[in-house]
Amino acid sequence: MKNVAVIGAGTMGNGIAHTFAQFGYAVHLIDISQEALDMGLLAIVKNLDRMRAKDRITQTQKDETLANITPFTNIKTGVQNVDLVVEAATENSDLKLRIFKELDAYCAKETILASNTSSISITKIASVTNRPDKVIGMHFMNPVPVMKLVEIIRGYSTSDAVTELIMDISKKLNKVPVEVNDYPGFIANRILMPMLNEAIYALYEGVAGVYEIDTVMKLGMAHPMGPLQLADFIGLDVCLSILNVLYDGFGNSKYAPCPLLVNMVNAGKTGVKSAEGFYDYSNSVKADKIAKQFV
Ligand code: NAD
Repeated sequence: MKNVAVIGAGTMGNGIAHTFAQFGYAVHLIDISQEALDMGLLAIVKNLDRMRAKDRITQTQKDETLANITPFTNIKTGVQNVDLVVEAATENSDLKLRIFKELDAYCAKETILASNTSSISITKIASVTNRPDKVIGMHFMNPVPVMKLVEIIRGYSTSDAVTELIMDISKKLNKVPVEVNDYPGFIANRILMPMLNEAIYALYEGVAGVYEIDTVMKLGMAHPMGPLQLADFIGLDVCLSILNVLYDGFGNSKYAPCPLLVNMVNAGKTGVKSAEGFYDYSNSVKADKIAKQFV
């Protein structure tokens, strides 16, 4: 398995493309938006430069990684002759179902279709294809080039062979794959999102300010980043979508998204990617300094 297509060049897609390319895979990076594709490629160059500056990679590795990535704006062309597709488009159920229908029509019948979804049912995604045994969750963590975990989600019909293959590929990317079953939020977000939501509720109810909440969790719980800043990095729109999936999936009010989170997303304050969330990222030097802690 050598040829991989990544759908979506946003926060996760560019990190996934970077990682596969760094480990020698030929990557087709696909986004419907030319602007998103350009920004994604720029992010990859920046992250490789950071790794180079820290001597984590050589100049040759940087050049080879970039040479392994080919950008596309058309899904049909981009998925020709690939062995694996990793979908990392916007977290929206209807959109993902549409994309997987297209992938099923355009890809060779042996191609494995993976989704990086944070919370949408793999079984539901697989149901719109004619290859549910070859559909699987490959949930990378942000920032992808740095974080070791890949949560591997088995849908109801995912085969043992496909699961083993994806576990092996994850190890080849120098990651640690962990297999979980397909229930809302899987493991990572079922546990993480209620914590982030609770931090937003604490702010909303005036229990403490942004700095205070994040400092308590950083220094008191030894978390590398406070929950509000982590929410900014994940994207507040992504957090809201995941909470809605948990809320709908379990029908339990403990997952109801905080009204402050809903308001911020409606106002377009989605965190780092919009330069404003719980923190202000409009000063690029400051934002870059925060990002440097991770990559
Ligand atoms: P993002 O908004 O940064 O990027 C999404 C990209 O998908 C955009 O560039 C958009 O143009 C593109 N896109 C939309 N429709 C498309 C289509 N039809 N074809 C091709 N490209 C299309 O989102 P993100 O944060 O990178 O999240 C992507 C996925 O990864 C989501 O499913 C999300 O839940 C998951 N995820 C996110 C994080 C995180 O920390 N942000 C972590 C793990 C998993």
